[in-house]
Amino acid sequence: MTGTTGTLTNWAGNITYTAGELHRPRSLDALRALVADSTRVRVLGSGHSFNAIAEPGDGGVLLSLTGLPPAVDVDTTARTVRVSGGVRYAELARRVHEHGLALHNMASLPHISVAGSVATGTHGSGVTNGSLASAVREVELVTADGATVTIGRDDTRFDGAVTALGALGVVTALTLDLEPAFGVSQHVFTGLPLAGLDFEAVAAAAYSVSLFTDWRQPGFGQVWLKRRTDRPAVDFPWAAPATEAMHPVPGMPARNCTEQLGVPGPWHDRLPHFRAEFTPSSGAELQSEYLLPRSDALAALHALDAIRHVIAPLLQICEVRTVAADRQWLSPAYGRDSVALHFTWVADTQAVLPVVARVEEALAPFDARPHWGKVFTVPSEVVRARSPRLTDFGALAAALDPAGTFTNAFVRDFLQPLS
Ligand SMILES: Cc1cc2nc3c(=O)[nH]c(=O)nc-3n(C[C@H](O)[C@H](O)[C@H](O)COP(=O)(O)OP(=O)(O)OC[C@H]3O[C@@H](n4cnc5c(N)ncnc54)[C@H](O)[C@@H]3O)c2cc1C
Repeated sequence: MTGTTGTLTNWAGNITYTAGELHRPRSLDALRALVADSTRVRVLGSGHSFNAIAEPGDGGVLLSLTGLPPAVDVDTTARTVRVSGGVRYAELARRVHEHGLALHNMASLPHISVAGSVATGTHGSGVTNGSLASAVREVELVTADGATVTIGRDDTRFDGAVTALGALGVVTALTLDLEPAFGVSQHVFTGLPLAGLDFEAVAAAAYSVSLFTDWRQPGFGQVWLKRRTDRPAVDFPWAAPATEAMHPVPGMPARNCTEQLGVPGPWHDRLPHFRAEFTPSSGAELQSEYLLPRSDALAALHALDAIRHVIAPLLQICEVRTVAADRQWLSPAYGRDSVALHFTWVADTQAVLPVVARVEEALAPFDARPHWGKVFTVPSEVVRARSPRLTDFGALAAALDPAGTFTNAFVRDFLQPLS
């Protein structure tokens, strides 16, 4: 991404990378040579993170894999796909679907890169759906010396190697599990009160469920249900069906959103909220998100409701999703079935940060883990205390990257006492 002044920025424009240049090696050998010759390297995926996670630091190399051939190799017998590091979900999903196969889930936006998404623990929704990283069965890395290392599920390092914040090496390819293609119909309901909410029943009422609120009232303006057409539909008696297509942010046009009103369609045209054909080049927003035990969802929602007068003025929309427990050491859903409380804020960092801190204070009793790719102010020692496998990750990073070539200031902050 190039900002208005010719500088390199993330998608939201709130982070300007210090690197003056984005290196785009055109072959794996060129990539290996560049890495082996550099003392600090970070990869930029599609740049959709909202913090300095991809920043290499002064004199560091920022590189993109978009100059490499975009491989998407589907194995229909094994039901797997090997995808190269620069590919985005929209392209991956289209190619997988052509073979009659599907990914288990997708995030709200299909334009994000696969490698960058699994690196930060990106997720969709669904009580039985793990994060996007849970589909990964093998990761191929170019490490600091330019060597290629392949880590599969049967490797003891695997649980640290996928949601790895870009700190182990350049992810040049990932192999993912697939399943037979399925259809999904999307139904929006309006006006779900917080009082008397049976969160477990609501969250389990479809394959993927999202609740949206602007916190201007104690409840949810919209509930999006994504029902698999190969499974029986569960009744949704708690709110009224919408009579027209809607955007999650009140007042925004629905034309960029995936089709609703129960019209069945392929999984990749319904699981994201936003259409693949609509490509937002930048966004006037900031995002924060916290994952905490699903069993605490209702209490956490009431804690947010208690400060909604603080949240609402700076909020575009809050989305509530669920994520099944996974095994990736750094995953915010590590070891616990989670509820994910997401906030799309207005694009004003100075005004938003104090409110983010208030949200974090309200969610602290629930051991909330921040999304690695979004804005948060939780101190690193608190994140460490809530991340039981960070020590194991630090040991893995030290073994694969002893000179810390891929360790930037963001990552170092969390690993500090370990090194
Ligand atoms: C509009 C919007 C919607 C979003 N929706 C969701 C959502 O539904 N669910 C959710 O959980 N999150 C969501 N996010 C957050 C987003 O998924 C994460 O920030 C994700 O990391 C973005 O992927 P990226 O490729 O843009 O990553 P980047 O921001 O480019 O990079 C993220 C990290 O991955 C590393 N990285 C990237 N590629 C590689 C590679 N090949 N090798 C090694 N390291 C690499 C980078 O160094 C960096 O550390 C959303 C963000 C936006 C802007």
